[in-house]
Amino acid sequence: MIVVIKANANPEKQDQLINWLKAMGIGVHKSVGEYQTVLGLIGDTSKVDMDLIESLDIVESVKRVTETFKCCNRKFHPEDSVIRVGDVRIGGGHFAMIAGPCSVESEEQIVGIAKAVKASGAAMLRGGAFKPRTSPYDFQGLKGEGIELLKIARAETGLPIVTEIMNLKDLPLFDDIDVLQVGARNMQNFDLLRELGTLNKPILLKRGLANTLKELLMSAEYIMASGNEQVILCERGIRTYSDYLRNTLDLSAVPMLHELTHLPVIVDPSHATGIARIVPPMALAAAACGADGLIIEVHNDPLHALCDGAQSLTPDAFDTLAKRVLAVRAAAGCGTEG
Ligand code: PEP
Ligand code: MN
Repeated sequence: MIVVIKANANPEKQDQLINWLKAMGIGVHKSVGEYQTVLGLIGDTSKVDMDLIESLDIVESVKRVTETFKCCNRKFHPEDSVIRVGDVRIGGGHFAMIAGPCSVESEEQIVGIAKAVKASGAAMLRGGAFKPRTSPYDFQGLKGEGIELLKIARAETGLPIVTEIMNLKDLPLFDDIDVLQVGARNMQNFDLLRELGTLNKPILLKRGLANTLKELLMSAEYIMASGNEQVILCERGIRTYSDYLRNTLDLSAVPMLHELTHLPVIVDPSHATGIARIVPPMALAAAACGADGLIIEVHNDPLHALCDGAQSLTPDAFDTLAKRVLAVRAAAGCGTEG
């Protein structure tokens, strides 16, 4: 907190204020300039009544400079965090592509897609086992069986697996999952976030449909304040005025988040746009603006997908895109791969 003292303020009153603050256990750094004196308050100022100080006749203004988010704040951790998943690294110049179907549907489907996306350079496999669907009548995922099929795909390909957890009661099923995804709808499920903060594994935290960047960071803070610093943020589009697209991809969130936090930021152009043919241009744009990775829906047979077929790339389309993404990163002077 910073207190600006009025020019020519009574020195005795200034001392009284300083002594009062010190009596509350707050350190005071006084800096006397030519035209004004500034008091820098150090320590836990959360209980200091800003309005009371501002009302004093010797005080010009009061400003809180402490940030609401601390663990994920770049000010307190200037270096980029690099999140490790087995041999894969994300952040700090390391870029990773995560690809796979919206939902795990069968062993043949998930293993086939895993092999294809691996051959195209994907570093991790995504696949939903528990699906948050808008309609309760839509396919809700294979649940526990889907998790088992993901493990088979990992065993066949060596790709780490990423899948969404919706409910804490399912946590034991996720013991052997490499990265737990918190979906957009659960971004502010604070009990879930707090519990995931007690784990020692990376959490992929997606931005909510109508959440600000500060709210996203506060959600990351829930996980980190509980002890788990391995958080990957994901911009996946927000609700605005888009009529022809599923959401609006807020790519300016990527450089802004990079300024605010040391955590890696990846982009999901699939849920952001909802249309397979719009996914490649937005994936390339995400790569160009410095995203640390991409998460992209890929399906062997999008026309018959049980979920999100319209936005799913075929393995061939993903292969073409993956090469172009690397070319864009190289052209934009981004960091290393993998
Ligand atoms: C998903 O990744 O399949 C998903 C449901 O994403 P979101 O939470 O971003 O809607
Ligand atoms: Mn999906």
